[in-house]
This record gives sequence, structure tokens and C-alpha cells, in this order.
Amino acid sequence: MKYIIPAVDTEHAVSAVALAEQYDTIYAAVGQHPSHADAYSPEAEKIFRELAQHPRVVALGECGLDAVKSSASMEVQEEVFRRHIELALEIGKPLILHTRGAEARGAEILSEYPRSGGVAHCYTADLATAQKYIQLGFCIGLTGIITYPGAGALRAVVKELPLSSLLLETDGPYLAPQKYRGMQNEPAYVVEMAKMVAELHGVSVEEVARATTENAARIFGI
Ligand SMILES: [Zn+2]
Repeated sequence: MKYIIPAVDTEHAVSAVALAEQYDTIYAAVGQHPSHADAYSPEAEKIFRELAQHPRVVALGECGLDAVKSSASMEVQEEVFRRHIELALEIGKPLILHTRGAEARGAEILSEYPRSGGVAHCYTADLATAQKYIQLGFCIGLTGIITYPGAGALRAVVKELPLSSLLLETDGPYLAPQKYRGMQNEPAYVVEMAKMVAELHGVSVEEVARATTENAARIFGI
């Protein structure tokens, strides 16, 4: 079992890297979450640039846009997102994208740059936008939401996407799958997402596990 801990700010990034140094199975990602993009500064960028080059750091993120809940304006979020894309390209590592409520705009911005690859984390938008992310070299990240009774539209999207473009993630401690909904989420519950994807694709849970593990290994080089 291997884990990637994405950061939400500089402080969190430092502790994620410390954990990754301590445990062989843990890797870190570093970035400023869009919900607090206004906390980004030249000093923060210096810290992210330094940490991003650490051998245990496998991606830049979470970064992106959040149209639902953010203390920063969309203009500031876009600027900070672009800084992350540029840093990812400079260092040669993929992106962990958070683009809640702004998925199409996120893809539009990314299409202005060379491919960095990565994952569109906690994806919940439409099929056409998912396909655009895949064309841009991203995998589509699925959380416990895929198991919720109200997520029929998302399940219809996932049914159309190839297994070679799907990743399973916790978003822990949030978004526990239906069976554990409202409880603290944890990596062991990912099997519930795998069961749902297996059902949608008409394949075994083992096949989903194999494909999504391979995808993570390919994207993050772990
Ligand atoms: Zn997120």
C-alpha cells in the first residue's frame, strides 16, 4: 500500500513532506489550495519551489479553482493556479487539480500550457469536460461521492470513461463512501469506490484495483 498526501498550504506541505521522509509508503504533494489562494505569496512560492524538488514529493497540489467556496476572488485563484502549472512544468512533476464548480475553466487554462499530466481530483462534472481533461493528459479522480444515491449523473459519466483514465482516492477525512457516510474517511474504504466502478464497467473489483493502481504508478512515478 502506498499513500499520497496532498497539501493545502505551506504549513501542511512541510508536515506532509516530513511524514513522507519518515515512512517509505508515504509520498507528498505540495501546493496552495484554491479555497485560500489569497494566502499565496512570493515567500510561499519559494517554500513550494524548494519542497517540490524533494524526491518524496510526487506532484504539485492541491491547486486549481473553487467556484463554490473560497476566500479568494476567481481572478486571484486563476493567477495562483497558473503559478502552480508553471512550477509543475519547470520541475517536471504532475498536478493534483481541485476545480470544484469551475471544471471547464480549469481545463481551458490548462490547454494554454504544455502537458504536465496529473489528476482531476474529486471529479463530479460532465462527460465532455472529463474527456477534455483526459485529452490534456489527466486521470479522473473519484471519491466516495460515486457511491452516493444522488450521484447517478456522475456514475453515468464514469461508465463512459476508460479504466485507464480513472483513479480512486479518499479525500479523507471527508467524503466517506455511502456505507460509512458521515464518518471519518480512510484509505481502507477505497474498496467501496472500486466495487462501484467494477459494477459500472462490468468487470471484477480486482481488475479495477489493478488498473487504478497502475494509473497512479504511471502518473506519479511511484
Ligand atoms: Zn480538493
